Amino acid sequence: MNLLLRGGVVLTGPDWVPVPLDVQVAEGRIAALGAPGSLTGEAMLDVTDRLIMPGLINAHTHSHTLPVRGTLRAGTLEDLLLSSGWMAGARGEELSELSAIIAATEMIASGATGVFDLMAQAGGPDPAGLWAAARGYASVGLRTVLAPMVADRSVHEAVPVIGECCGVPASGLDASAIVALCREYVEGFPALAGVGPAVAPTIPAHCSPELVGGLQSLAVEHGLRVHLHLAESKIQASAGKERFGHSIVTELARLGVLGPQLTAAHCIWLSDSDREALAGAGATAVTVPGSNLRLGSGVADVRALLRAGVKVGIGTDGANSADLLDPLDAMRLTSLLSRAFVQPASDWLTVEETLSAATEGGAAACGWDDVGRVEPGYRADLAFLDLTGRAFLPANDLANQVVTAARMCDVTDVMVGGRFVYQDRTFPGLDLPALESRFRLLVQEWRADQAGARGMAEAQIEKVRPALAAERARGWEPDHLL
Ligand SMILES: [Zn+2]
Repeated sequence: MNLLLRGGVVLTGPDWVPVPLDVQVAEGRIAALGAPGSLTGEAMLDVTDRLIMPGLINAHTHSHTLPVRGTLRAGTLEDLLLSSGWMAGARGEELSELSAIIAATEMIASGATGVFDLMAQAGGPDPAGLWAAARGYASVGLRTVLAPMVADRSVHEAVPVIGECCGVPASGLDASAIVALCREYVEGFPALAGVGPAVAPTIPAHCSPELVGGLQSLAVEHGLRVHLHLAESKIQASAGKERFGHSIVTELARLGVLGPQLTAAHCIWLSDSDREALAGAGATAVTVPGSNLRLGSGVADVRALLRAGVKVGIGTDGANSADLLDPLDAMRLTSLLSRAFVQPASDWLTVEETLSAATEGGAAACGWDDVGRVEPGYRADLAFLDLTGRAFLPANDLANQVVTAARMCDVTDVMVGGRFVYQDRTFPGLDLPALESRFRLLVQEWRADQAGARGMAEAQIEKVRPALAAERARGWEPDHLL
């Protein structure tokens, strides 16, 4: 059916100039844009007082961390990685599915139409649990790329001071077993509209060359994205450099992973030549500002990434370090943090660059070339904001106000592939209160199961704290912590 959205104001890239336009949607895509009153449709929806923009893409999150939201108070990335065993602890398929559903509804309520989710599972990838999360996303209707996040080295092995202090635990599955499970996940992926698989060797120093190479081959064979964490903390970058004898980006090039299929999250502790190599390869970076501030990891120099020619998307990260999965908030932080570098105001991210990163840039990170604009031929993935809401009171500069003032409460509706997945601030067909209460119950049981592993992780965090603090104090050029 062909639907006409009549009476709204369209705001889209690359120019981001708001224009009153009617939007015709057919077969899940934008069929036409026209001056108010100039188009027809088999069905008509009055969207007067609505700003229609491409939906935001949350280009980096972890739905499996929903059950541990807010758990860590003051902790660094390394503390989080020491906790990752219990935070990704074994769970039933229902909890994986519910976590994806809750995550999806939270992101959609903040104007998201798409997500890249990296899901860790203690003990190695479990296809059934991953497929359950995929079904969860599909049931809400969020466009999704879902990857099993894997490693064959522990943080104890990857960061030598942790291993020296706490010992190195027995290794789990080897690279070939992990790749085989990822293959099973990819090749058995259920047919779900708008949801597809990817691979994710989590952090280069946590993965053997055999694991990275095996996943890269699987990605090439099936045309998948490869998503990893790149130079997120100073300790991660320096441990990587020591292990590889050169920068992590150089190592990715050596392993054959540096290419257009690569999505690299964080990208904080990089040199100019690293950024040039990413750009030259056509890789996409994802900045994750809320998590980086929360964990004291540093601040990605997005201006330097853009100047080098790297495509940039924006992510929230998981609920263990975000803690809200709020893409509007992540976009605002990205804009503000570009002003934290010593540079002229003319080098701050522009409103247009920021909006493009949050939409088209995120779509590039997910491998979607027909998502991220309100333009004929593109997918009808749209966010509707209330022009009578506080963010636009008064309406002075709509594009700027989306970045600086819009919050979750300003989003009224979200459409994905021509279907409303959020309408008048409700989720059609979802009994959210019932799902939330079931989630609470399952989380309570799951957390009780993790108590022993959590206690061991917390003891290790205490034990290694002085050594990690000394590592963090080591110099790095240029230093990004503010
Ligand atoms: Zn992450």
